[in-house]
Amino acid sequence: MKTVLKNGNVFYQNKIQKLDVEIDGETISRIGKELDGDNVIDCTDLLVTPGFVDLHVHLREPGFEHKGTIKTETLSAKYGGYTHIVAMANTNPCMDDKETIEDFIQRVKKDSSIHTYTYSAITKDLKGQELVNFKENNAFDIVQGFSDDGKGVQSKEMMEKAMKEAKANKSIIVAHCEDEGELEKGACINLGRVSKENGLVGINNASEYNHALRDLQLSKEIGNRYHICHISTKETVAGLREYRKQGLPVSGEACPHHLILTDENIKNLNPNYKMNPPLRSKEDLDALIEGLKDGTVTCISTDHAPHSDEEKLKPIDQAPFGIIGNQHAFSLVYTYLVKKNLLDLETVLKCMTINPSQVIGLDHDMAVGKKANIAIIDLNEEYTITRDNIYSKAKNTPFLDTKCFGLVKYHILDGKIEKL
Ligand SMILES: [Zn+2]
Repeated sequence: MKTVLKNGNVFYQNKIQKLDVEIDGETISRIGKELDGDNVIDCTDLLVTPGFVDLHVHLREPGFEHKGTIKTETLSAKYGGYTHIVAMANTNPCMDDKETIEDFIQRVKKDSSIHTYTYSAITKDLKGQELVNFKENNAFDIVQGFSDDGKGVQSKEMMEKAMKEAKANKSIIVAHCEDEGELEKGACINLGRVSKENGLVGINNASEYNHALRDLQLSKEIGNRYHICHISTKETVAGLREYRKQGLPVSGEACPHHLILTDENIKNLNPNYKMNPPLRSKEDLDALIEGLKDGTVTCISTDHAPHSDEEKLKPIDQAPFGIIGNQHAFSLVYTYLVKKNLLDLETVLKCMTINPSQVIGLDHDMAVGKKANIAIIDLNEEYTITRDNIYSKAKNTPFLDTKCFGLVKYHILDGKIEKL
């Protein structure tokens, strides 16, 4: 059966255009004007975009199911318009060997509502001591790269070895940059006025950019693909800009919270404003937006990190780092950046669809012959984020009670259309 998405504002070839999209079975069969089909969905005034791609989520399964599961966290991603996500390896057991990856494949088959991939860890148990078997782990289609996210790889020698392995296996290093040498015990929010006035231990910018700059130089020497997770500092943006100018295969992502909030927005020291890297200064936020505009930072990822209420009820210096984000990422960015003329919609869509696909080599786009993985979004519909309408198992977000525009109305996965 053929279905036509009729008269939508279609994000096609980097532009939003009034077009019809025909889906035949699992595939996009035609894109054009005045198409007819057996089944027509009226998309007048709706945005029709390739499904979003999230290069950075923590599904918490296996091992931390009290925080979230593959079932709950992919469901929340679906409601956020995502069709493809890549999970981080900091599970328990750690996603560092063949057996754990094989087990994950079975879990995903059973419970995932979207295309779900994973990174392999870089080092065994994220301990930074011993490399995983890159060749063996990379042989799985579900493995999209290598990351010790949650922890930085402290040793330069270890990172160098990892990059060489990534290159030999035609894969990518996805780096959580955090120099523990810069961290003081109990550090929980950005180092600045807010940390000082509240007697909290601050996290400086160098804890991120030390390793980002170290790795950019290393990857230039080695020639491997390298991607920086959740960039939060102006220095990391500046470094990435310099290396990208040299045409190197390096990239980076920004998260919605780092683009919308600063440490000055932290209310009542609520732990839902605590994530790693932390909310930074206005200067850092501005540099990130500039980086997205000039093509230095090419991806918007969520770092979706569910935690239970009990964990997040602890004081800010004791609660775990991380917030949820995949259900509302697009709405928040659309409402607080696009509608405020800080970024244009096309840039945001590129950074959430085509660009992250390119980073990991996913064959995903709005184009004839591609699998129909599409989100249809009403940009005019306003809603409020509340505990009741969050699909994640966790509710840890600083955006509770925040109003947003941009509700996902249909989710299409390999041609299977679901009205949400
Ligand atoms: Zn991280």
